Amino acid sequence: MDRILITGALGQLGSALQKVFYDKGVFVIATDIRDCPKDIECQYEKLDALCQDDLLNIVKKYEINVIYHLVAILSAKGEKNPFRSWKINMETFQNIIDVSIKCKIKKIFWPSSIAVFGKGSNLKYVPQNTFMDPTTVYGVSKLAGEKLINYYFDKYKLDIRSIRFPGIISMGIKPGGGVTDYIIEMLHASKKGEDYTCFLDKDKRLPMVYMEDAISAIISIMSVERSKLSISSSYNILGFTTTPEEFQLAIKSNGFNIAVNYKADYRQKIANTWPENLDDNLAKKDWGWSPKFGLDETIKVALSLQ
Ligand code: NAD
Repeated sequence: MDRILITGALGQLGSALQKVFYDKGVFVIATDIRDCPKDIECQYEKLDALCQDDLLNIVKKYEINVIYHLVAILSAKGEKNPFRSWKINMETFQNIIDVSIKCKIKKIFWPSSIAVFGKGSNLKYVPQNTFMDPTTVYGVSKLAGEKLINYYFDKYKLDIRSIRFPGIISMGIKPGGGVTDYIIEMLHASKKGEDYTCFLDKDKRLPMVYMEDAISAIISIMSVERSKLSISSSYNILGFTTTPEEFQLAIKSNGFNIAVNYKADYRQKIANTWPENLDDNLAKKDWGWSPKFGLDETIKVALSLQ
């Protein structure tokens, strides 16, 4: 029986993931550096994942055997304080790895990102295995994390599974400060009937995935037998690609209104080093990745949510 710990569980991805486990009746303990929210259903412990002793105590106290480590400072936010971002992204991951080896954790999930790529990565259509030259401290930390996954698998057979997420789209929790946040902001503006100023150029194409598909990807990769995974780094996945202007038009063609001004800021420079499209065939072959939400399905479901 899985006994799950999630770190960074109050963030955009963690909030959705802990709810899925709780609703399925799986034992799950949510942790985050923030105070316990009033509306959380599953068990909660406040935990700064930089503190290895506290992490170890929680793992022992709840007899945890599977960890989803979601703590990170995301791309755009990370550039504001690169030293702090590196510390949080890397030291928390090292703590998870150390505690996992000590406590014989059977599986870990750790998300990577399309931020690992860069201008040398054939950005029009990024292969699974390619040259990687990230330009943000976030991307550099994710690439280093991918190398650690491989290293600790070789050295200790530590089973860390990973996906390179594109921009994840969801409506509940405010996104954490990434370059793809514009899409969520545009959806919220459309719902409220407000104008929106987009921080990327209207023709900047980026890969995206709807939250429900992101969660089903995590469940699939964590459920498959380890022997089916042909790589021990991180898998590309893709829901669909879009530009801000295409997204705006798709909102309108689905019967909703939105007026958008375009005023690119520092995030445009980061977006220019990210993939437009990518090859996710290995994820399909190895663990059955099969997205259900394209552009229109995403807009319909996101705008129908309360
Ligand atoms: P988020 O910023 O919404 O959530 C991160 C959470 O970590 C926050 O709740 C924050 O309070 C918590 N946190 C920060 N420092 C902490 C610390 N020291 N100890 C404990 N908790 C701490 O991020 P997210 O969007 O939910 O992303 C989750 C993971 O998925 C990250 O690793 C991110 O890199 C990855 N990812 C997300 C996206 C996306 O579009 N959201 C895309 C690619 C990869």
